Amino acid sequence: MLATSTRIALADPESVLRPLCAHLVEHEAVISEQEGATVIVLDASRARIGLSAAALDVTVEAPDVAALQEMKRAIASHVIEFAPKGAAPEMRWVGDGTGPALPADFRVLAVTGVETITPHMRRIRFRGENLARFDKIDALHVRLFIPPEGVTAPSWPMVGDDGLLLQPPAESRPIVRKYTIREIDSAAGTLAVDFVLHEDAGPGSAFAMRAKTGDLVGMGGPGGRGLKTAERYVFLADETGLPAAARMLENLPPEAVGQAFFEVANAGEEQPLRHPAGIAVTWLHRGDAAPGSLPLLQEAFAALDWQAEGPATYLWAAMEHGGFREIRAAARGKLRPERDQHLVVSYWRNGATDEEHVAAKKAEAAKA
Ligand SMILES: Cc1cc2nc3c(=O)[nH]c(=O)nc-3n(C[C@H](O)[C@H](O)[C@H](O)COP(=O)(O)OP(=O)(O)OC[C@H]3O[C@@H](n4cnc5c(N)ncnc54)[C@H](O)[C@@H]3O)c2cc1C
Repeated sequence: MLATSTRIALADPESVLRPLCAHLVEHEAVISEQEGATVIVLDASRARIGLSAAALDVTVEAPDVAALQEMKRAIASHVIEFAPKGAAPEMRWVGDGTGPALPADFRVLAVTGVETITPHMRRIRFRGENLARFDKIDALHVRLFIPPEGVTAPSWPMVGDDGLLLQPPAESRPIVRKYTIREIDSAAGTLAVDFVLHEDAGPGSAFAMRAKTGDLVGMGGPGGRGLKTAERYVFLADETGLPAAARMLENLPPEAVGQAFFEVANAGEEQPLRHPAGIAVTWLHRGDAAPGSLPLLQEAFAALDWQAEGPATYLWAAMEHGGFREIRAAARGKLRPERDQHLVVSYWRNGATDEEHVAAKKAEAAKA
């Protein structure tokens, strides 16, 4: 195990420790009192927090640098969040993994090639080092850090002495967008991402339009949940969910059965997919209508015969927010209520940038 520690001076440390523990429990931390200290266990990492009249004494232990950084960041960011306004508690970690460093879950990728899959889908190939942690079928998604146009020597976020992320100055700060690893060969140090080229292009789509060999992006992650093993499968996705669904289809056992529905603009946007013979693929065309404006995927879901599908069918769906809301509500009504029988996710929101989409989702969750 790696270990690092810090003392955080606070006027009323208990008033910070209490909400910090309550919050981390929501993130599935297990918390106990041991020998006069609070012990927080999160996955394979553990933090021991001693409480005195004017400080928290924190020691973090974790199996690797990524987990160590994650636990430090969880403690540091929540101490700041729950400290009184204007208190600005200081912390300087000593021990393993200290000093400004790139986040351990971060890689720099260089573009090696650009392919046109369809008129509105572009595959960008990248080369990077040490990609093994990204080579997983149950964690397909990454955050891409896209430098502003024209910046050839980008600055990347760094983990500071205080355990928090130091962001580069605003003018050179990369913009973060979520994408799916469509193909990866970690031994060869290569991967590919399929980008939708859309109207009102934000940083992600604009990068895909201009990308050329040698351009750099950052990549953090991976994240997301994998496909559950099931007797039958139903996939529903628009173009943004297509790369993930396509990769999952490729990795299903040959005897897998089910149905997949993909919404695209027209026949020219269909792409060849490798999938088990028992999975029937249907392309839904929205024609000239704007993406996310027609209920094609909702109708495909509504037309499914769930009696015939049976209780052992797993639903995976990813699309624009409006479709996501309707399909999630319908899925909760029709399928068994257990959360692990379906994964319905909102990948983007009409009229909102990704930052606005994330903020709206947080506000909706808080309201709920
Ligand atoms: C887990 C996850 C995985 C994803 N994987 C992929 C992937 O592999 N490939 C992929 O292309 N996308 C993927 N997406 C979706 C992608 O992150 C969003 O589409 C993102 O908004 C694109 O960023 P942008 O900078 O191009 O546009 P933004 O700056 O976010 O938005 C600018 C404008 O474009 C609109 N817009 C955004 N996306 C679309 C779209 N697809 N069609 C039409 N209008 C749009 C917005 O509503 C907004 O008005 C994924 C999303 C998630 C959450």
